[in-house]
Amino acid sequence: MFHLKGKVAVVTGAARGIGRSISLALSQAGATIALIDLSADSLQGVHDEITAQGGQASMHACDITDPDMVAATFKDITEQHNALHILVNNAGITRDNLLMRLSQEDWEAPIRTNLTGAFNCTRAAVRPMMKQRYGRIINIASVVGMMGNAGQANYAASKAGLIGLTKSTAKEFGSRAITANALAPGFITTDMTAELPESTVQKLTENIPLGRMGKPEDVAPAVVFLASEDAGYITGQILPIDGGMVM
Ligand code: NDP
Repeated sequence: MFHLKGKVAVVTGAARGIGRSISLALSQAGATIALIDLSADSLQGVHDEITAQGGQASMHACDITDPDMVAATFKDITEQHNALHILVNNAGITRDNLLMRLSQEDWEAPIRTNLTGAFNCTRAAVRPMMKQRYGRIINIASVVGMMGNAGQANYAASKAGLIGLTKSTAKEFGSRAITANALAPGFITTDMTAELPESTVQKLTENIPLGRMGKPEDVAPAVVFLASEDAGYITGQILPIDGGMVM
C-alpha cells in the first residue's frame, strides 16, 4: 500500500461514482481530502464516510466550469489545509447523441466540463504545487478518448483533449517536480452507465477479456499509486483500466 500521510488531495466530482471511491481510497492512504462537487449537500455522504473511518476531509461546492469560482475555491482549500499536493480531475458528464443530431449546446457541454473544467482546476493547482516542489495531477479520461465511440463524438473529443492536456502539463511542469498522468477507464458501473440497456452491457462485456464491467474500486488504487512519491518518475502516461478492452 502506498502512503500519502501529510498530503492534501483535491478530488472533483467527489460526491458519487468513481470520484467517491477515489476520495475514500486516498483518505485510507492517509491524505486529507478536499472534496469538490456542484453542491455541498451531495458531498455530505462521502465526507461522513471519510471521517467515520478516521480520515480528514473538507467540502467545497464549486462548478468547475466557472474559472472564478475555481480560483476562489482552490485559494480557500490551500489556505485551509496549508498545502495542495494532489489534484484528481474526475468530474465529468456525457450528452450522448449521434453526431448529426447533436445540438450546439450538447456538443459544447462535455467539453466545458470534462476539458475546460480540468484546465481551470489544473491552472489553479499548479502554483501551490510549484511552491512545494511536489505535485501529482491525475486526470480521469476514458478509453473512448483513445478509440472514439459512435454516439459520443462530444464526450470522446473532450476526453481526447484531456489526454492532450495531460501530456502538455507533464512537459510544462516536469522540471518543477509535478507529474501529470491520465487514467482511461473502460466501462465502469456508476450512475453514468446505469442507463445502458442490458443488451448493450452484454455486447460490451463480450469485448472485455476480463469478462465484466469495472467497478469504481477498480480505478481508485491506480490513483493512489500515481499520487504517491513512489510514482515520481512516471509522467505524461495514459493508463487504461478497462479489463483489457483496449490493447
Ligand atoms: P458520475 O456521473 O457518477 O459522477 C460525476 C460527478 O461529477 C457527480 O457527482 C457530478 O455532480 C459531478 N459534476 C458534474 N459536473 C460538475 C461540475 N461542473 N463541477 C463539479 N462537479 C461536477 O460519473 P462517474 O463516476 O461514472 O465518472 C467519473 C469520471 O470518470 C468522469 O470524468 C467520467 O467521464 C469518467 N469515466 C467514467 C466511466 C464510466 O464507465 N462510468 C468510464 C470512463 C471514464 P452532480 O451529481 O451534481 O451532477
